[in-house]
Amino acid sequence: MGILDKISDVSRGASDKAKNISEANNLKRKILYEEERIVEIFTDIGKKYYKNPNEDPAALKELCDDIDTRRRRIKKMKFELNGIRGCKVCPKCNAEVNERFQFCGRCGARLPDIEDDDFMSLEPNDYYTESSNQVFNADSTQNF
Ligand SMILES: [Zn+2]
Repeated sequence: MGILDKISDVSRGASDKAKNISEANNLKRKILYEEERIVEIFTDIGKKYYKNPNEDPAALKELCDDIDTRRRRIKKMKFELNGIRGCKVCPKCNAEVNERFQFCGRCGARLPDIEDDDFMSLEPNDYYTESSNQVFNADSTQNF
């Protein structure tokens, strides 16, 4: 490979990297937006119920479904975000593993794959917001 080829190779690598960074930032912004929306919807549900505990359950269900849709969106975007960094995060122990692997090197759990049928399934009670850095548990009576 000649020196000029090498230079163009390096600059191509650098622009790929810049593209990845802006893509990653884009995803992070979108994730943050969805997380904020989810918190607003949780508040909405609470207010609706507070004002009228006999509120039509269908109306509340609609808001809950909206939350789930957004959580799925976040899950997918986080997976894509890790993909840009070339890694997967173990759903069990949170270890970062090279994306080529199918199983976690630390705990042996199967790693998620976007092709999986259950990829978009959600854990029932966990909700993690990066912005608050806390686990939101709908069952919890704890005050934040
Ligand atoms: Zn693991």
